[in-house]
Amino acid sequence: MIPDEIVERVRSAADIVGIISEYVPLKRSGGTWRGPCPFHQGKNPNFSVSPSHGSYHCFVCHESGDVFTFLRKRLGLDWPSAVKYVGEKVGIEVIDVRIRRADLPQENMAATYRRMETARQQQAAQIRAVGEQQKRERIAEADKEVTITLATAQETADRTRGEGDAQRTRIYAQSFGRDAGFASFYRSMQAYEASIGQGDATMVLSPDSAFFRYFERGPGGAR
Ligand SMILES: [Zn+2]
Repeated sequence: MIPDEIVERVRSAADIVGIISEYVPLKRSGGTWRGPCPFHQGKNPNFSVSPSHGSYHCFVCHESGDVFTFLRKRLGLDWPSAVKYVGEKVGIEVIDVRIRRADLPQENMAATYRRMETARQQQAAQIRAVGEQQKRERIAEADKEVTITLATAQETADRTRGEGDAQRTRIYAQSFGRDAGFASFYRSMQAYEASIGQGDATMVLSPDSAFFRYFERGPGGAR
């Protein structure tokens, strides 16, 4: 984009008659210059150039414009080239700031966007990694707790069972040692247990069986 100020300076400094007359034979007619219209290939001087207005106009095909328009339409120049072309003739440096003002920011924006995208992806990856790590830590922690709980439970159970076994053995030993009645009862119960241990079985107890005798007398009631 060429700043308007430069365009206006070039336009007002341009010798529109001198430039157009390079392509169209012009003859002075009062305040204007006339010639055959190059746009509709006219033979008569219907093409008028006004140096005071800095414009041209065809009374037949109504083609009109300024010096830049003429160069664009007659020579096929684009707008910046037309302004530069005239600027060179009048000694004004025409700076197309489009490259500096539009293209570079565009590049910068793309680069900035790429940087943002990269940073965002890195951040996301980092968050995922941290999340994975935390998840692994939590699972490990939970596993550890389960292991500890199981181990503790196992240990407690083992100890309890061990204690129970020891206690039972101790009680039996004490009972067998000092209570013949209980020893007799215990042996009877073991015999009953063995006989009814499997399958359906009916236990018929005699009123004078060791079982009843034991309960009649109570522990330690052997005689
Ligand atoms: Zn014309």
